[in-house]
Amino acid sequence: MRDAIMDFDYLREQQSGLGTAAIIVMDQSTDIIKAIWRLSKFYKHESCGQCTPCREGTGWMMRVMERLVTGEADAEEIDMLFDVTKQVEGHTICALGDAAAWPIQGLIRNFRDEIEDRIRHKRTGRDNAVAAE
Ligand code: SF4
Repeated sequence: MRDAIMDFDYLREQQSGLGTAAIIVMDQSTDIIKAIWRLSKFYKHESCGQCTPCREGTGWMMRVMERLVTGEADAEEIDMLFDVTKQVEGHTICALGDAAAWPIQGLIRNFRDEIEDRIRHKRTGRDNAVAAE
């Protein structure tokens, strides 16, 4: 990302996106799984419920993300979660469905090892507990 250009086309080629051009800077101390779970919680809250993939998908994705944060999910759920994001993406009335799906896809694409490591070690201490939010 050091060489990344903040440009719509460039970021799309990198399987990322400019979004609303808002930037959140995270260092290596950030729990990236929990950070993406927090985004999922936001999108579930913001879903107006008008279309089924978003109404059902945002809640489903957030609940699986909760299980990834605590390490209680099964490893098979990672691919299942990715598949669900693909079912939400492009199948909703407005862009909120895509916006909810893309951060999770990016997490799985770029931090799969971290997710699997957490599941392996069942790191359910205070730092990773969703309940601590
Ligand atoms: S995609 Fe948009 S219209 Fe559909 S439920 Fe979500 S917020 Fe509502």
